Amino acid sequence: MIDHCPRCATKDISLVRTTSQWTLFRCGTCSFTWRSTEPDSVIHFEQRPADFRLDPHNLTALRQVLPTPTSAGRRARHRDA
Ligand SMILES: [Zn+2]
Repeated sequence: MIDHCPRCATKDISLVRTTSQWTLFRCGTCSFTWRSTEPDSVIHFEQRPADFRLDPHNLTALRQVLPTPTSAGRRARHRDA
């Protein structure tokens, strides 16, 4: 049984959904989401490549992802083009 996040190793995980085939988990610290049926190199922190792990103490230092445009914003750009 997984009791910590495969990406940041915190125990801030919750069960999202269970089916007859898999269980879906989500980390409240880094937002990583995974299914119980994924490969060990994805769902076990100890087996996960170091480049794909996160330090939960440095999350605020990560580069910000560009926001997804809202549908209203997309309509305005098409109208103005
Ligand atoms: Zn996490």
